[in-house]
Amino acid sequence: MKVAKFGGTSVASAEQIKKVASIVAEDKERKIIVVSAPGKRSSDDTKVTDLLIQLGETYLKNEDTESELQAVLNRYDDIANGLGLGKEVVATIEADLRKRLQFDRLRPGACMDLIKASGEDNNAKLIAAYFQSIGLHATYLNPQDAGLFVSDQPGNAQVLPEAYDHLKALRDRDEVIVFPGFFGYSKEGSLVTFSRGGSDITGSILAAGVKADLYENFTDVDSVFAANPNVIENPVKIKKMTYREMRELSYAGFSVFHDEALFPAFRNGIPVCVKNTNNPSSSGTMIIAEREYFMNPVIGIAADEGFATIYVRKYLMNREVGFGRKLLQILEDEGLSYEHMPSGIDDTSVILRQDQLTDEIAERVVSRIQEELQVDDVYIERDFAMVMIVGEGMHNTIGISSRATAALTRANVNIEMINQGSSEVSLILGIHASDADHAVIELYQEFFGGADETVQ
Ligand code: ASP
Repeated sequence: MKVAKFGGTSVASAEQIKKVASIVAEDKERKIIVVSAPGKRSSDDTKVTDLLIQLGETYLKNEDTESELQAVLNRYDDIANGLGLGKEVVATIEADLRKRLQFDRLRPGACMDLIKASGEDNNAKLIAAYFQSIGLHATYLNPQDAGLFVSDQPGNAQVLPEAYDHLKALRDRDEVIVFPGFFGYSKEGSLVTFSRGGSDITGSILAAGVKADLYENFTDVDSVFAANPNVIENPVKIKKMTYREMRELSYAGFSVFHDEALFPAFRNGIPVCVKNTNNPSSSGTMIIAEREYFMNPVIGIAADEGFATIYVRKYLMNREVGFGRKLLQILEDEGLSYEHMPSGIDDTSVILRQDQLTDEIAERVVSRIQEELQVDDVYIERDFAMVMIVGEGMHNTIGISSRATAALTRANVNIEMINQGSSEVSLILGIHASDADHAVIELYQEFFGGADETVQ
């Protein structure tokens, strides 16, 4: 059996939902259908989840929510009309939302999650009603009834191991299950959402729970591309890649698949296929445990911006027992999570996402490092990009770094930091954010220039 997840753009309008229905109807193995909230219908549209966040914020401020509520209801109204569903479907959604808008404001995290998750929940009910109206044997299933238990961390739920035991039972259901993505329930019964884009995570958990033969992730592109199509015109399509390669690329900005979503599928060895709702006959990208590496040691080039580096220098740092621990302890005290830590003999740089570093935190961190570690120099620089060259085949191929650095020389880009993990699945180059596009263009030319339309 297959679990198929349809993302926001795939369920953004009646027209899109009709495509979903025919994709589901044409393959009997598609038994569990996970849906997002209605997403953008065009580039200047607003996702229902974002409308719901505005609604939640207004409610939490104790202000009048009527216009935000109507904006959400209008989206469902359009969809229900286009699908020929009766007025009662939207009336039920309205009643549901009004009930959510009575939740205790003194629990703002839980309240926001309850409102946010209604996007998926109501869309799943609506889609199940539509499937039934066209004669598909389908039913809506709530994550609580299915036993999708998660930790109680609003906006950042983590699945609890026992959830998989409960979800196993769904394998025996003799109908199409329409399941809302993006949230589960704590053991105490609170609704908790995953991080943004988390319907991918729901799909992967369900696929792992029922031991599906395939997890299909339907989106609005034909495949995962070897580079960002906004930077490279017509980048090559990736036909097959490994979980680790996808994980590395999604870390560095490949948004086609949520990075947390890979783990459940990966641990259970379930292949993932990224496919296009608007072009379902295209084979898409398969994400699997292993691929042949010799033809394409490198699978993709990614770049992500928004990094800062804390530079620290102290003479004889290499001999000072506990220096690294004390440095990282300061970051932990401030609740900062770091990404990389390349080091020299007497210096080290801690690279982290800069949105965590407010001016106040940055000042405190610098002065604590100065005082507590008695360093010779410490400062923070912002606006770095991490460019990643990803591919499992790099492990056995000589000369990838040399080709990468030569490409950046041609692009006249200064490399501030080089980092290669011992697994050699990626090579990370730290550069100034303003150079990121140049770097990607030249690296793409180096590794994919002249390649035909697909990569294996
Ligand atoms: N609707 C949620 C979001 O926009 C989850 C999802 O679509 O995956 O983040």
